[in-house]
Amino acid sequence: MLISRRDLVKAAIALPLAGLVAPAARAIGRLTAGDAEIIVVGDGHMSLPLDFVFPDLPQEELKALLAESGMPSGGYNPDCNVTFLRSGDRLAVFDVGAGPNFMQTTGRLVENLEAAEIDPADVTDVIFTHAHPDHLWGVLDDFDELVFPNAGYRMAEAEWEFWRADDTLEKMPEERKSFVVGAQNRLEVIGEKITLFKPGAEVFPAVEAVDTAGHTPGHVSFMVYGGAEPVLVAGDAITNLASFVRPELRAGADQEPDLAAAARAKLLDRLAVEKARLIGFHLPHPGVGTVERQAGAYRFAAA
Ligand SMILES: [Zn+2]
Repeated sequence: MLISRRDLVKAAIALPLAGLVAPAARAIGRLTAGDAEIIVVGDGHMSLPLDFVFPDLPQEELKALLAESGMPSGGYNPDCNVTFLRSGDRLAVFDVGAGPNFMQTTGRLVENLEAAEIDPADVTDVIFTHAHPDHLWGVLDDFDELVFPNAGYRMAEAEWEFWRADDTLEKMPEERKSFVVGAQNRLEVIGEKITLFKPGAEVFPAVEAVDTAGHTPGHVSFMVYGGAEPVLVAGDAITNLASFVRPELRAGADQEPDLAAAARAKLLDRLAVEKARLIGFHLPHPGVGTVERQAGAYRFAAA
């Protein structure tokens, strides 16, 4: 038997802690879509300045919006929710969290998986909404080995081509150049295992890729069919509770803000009409709820 450096470190960490970790403390949410099981597992949370998230709003207006949306006014610390879908003998994961090298408060996915009774080796399909650090960088562990070694990988063609293009690093603003380097390194590693798709494709049985470009040039969300109502794995098409109140607002995290705002408005309308359930990667954990129309805008009903 070959024992890797990673196995040794894992064993050294696991032994003294065995039995001490209370599953109740772990961030896990569960729902179903017909015969398929959906498990949402936390990857920790991020910390972002409010003036980065809402760049266009004067202070007073921002305060009012936060209050109306039920968001805290002191700072924005969004959760990171990673969605797994178990269907038949396959197990998919949509985005993989941030891994060990992004923020200190992210990268908790692998340690939460045991409590969720998910073995990373059982994952057959890794499917990306986009290639931002908090969604992609967790593809590799501390030792630059694949966290999901037996999976095939899928990404929208437009997203893959954007991050891999020769001029993307040069064109990216200084403060986000590390996003490009980080994405290129990781996409290089999974390059041999990647399958590219276009919006509208069935990327997994009963799962359709929905075009939500704007947050990044090739961003997609995923509609999971098979249950009484569809379930949307939104990625970053809808990122915070204020998006329901003011979907048209330009957001600092969106690469093409006007396109992203239009995609968000269209998506919210579809979710309300189809009475779909929504899983938001950065909505309060586990990020699951429904969307209702309310006074010319929308409301998120957590469920
Ligand atoms: Zn993002």
